[in-house]
Amino acid sequence: MPSDKKTKGSDNLSNVVAEARRHMREREKTYREKALKLFPHVCGRCGREFSGKQLKELTVHHRDHNHDNNPPDGSNWELLCIYCHDNEHGRLEVADAYDGSSASTESSTSDFSHKPFAALEELLKKK
Ligand SMILES: [Zn+2]
Ligand SMILES: [Zn+2]
Repeated sequence: MPSDKKTKGSDNLSNVVAEARRHMREREKTYREKALKLFPHVCGRCGREFSGKQLKELTVHHRDHNHDNNPPDGSNWELLCIYCHDNEHGRLEVADAYDGSSASTESSTSDFSHKPFAALEELLKKK
């Protein structure tokens, strides 16, 4: 059956994806647990304390933004609450956006794209 083949293929793919996700989650869980053991359960930005159920709002931030860099001494980790963590990354995104806006040359190149049309119009007029 050809449909059987197709199902098997997509099954394999979703297995691979699920496997990768599982690994990621497991890795995340491990470094989070380690970080929670190493550091006091306090947000490094707003200083809020977390315990019990709230503890899940405390997340591990990677100082160098490399999630694969997980030194056992925790030197690349920082415990941040989800709000401050968002801010931390939001700020970087803003910085990136500012960098992008300096590429104002791009808008002028899009202005240039009008010129061929204007030239074409001129040609049509001449006809
Ligand atoms: Zn915070
Ligand atoms: Zn982070």
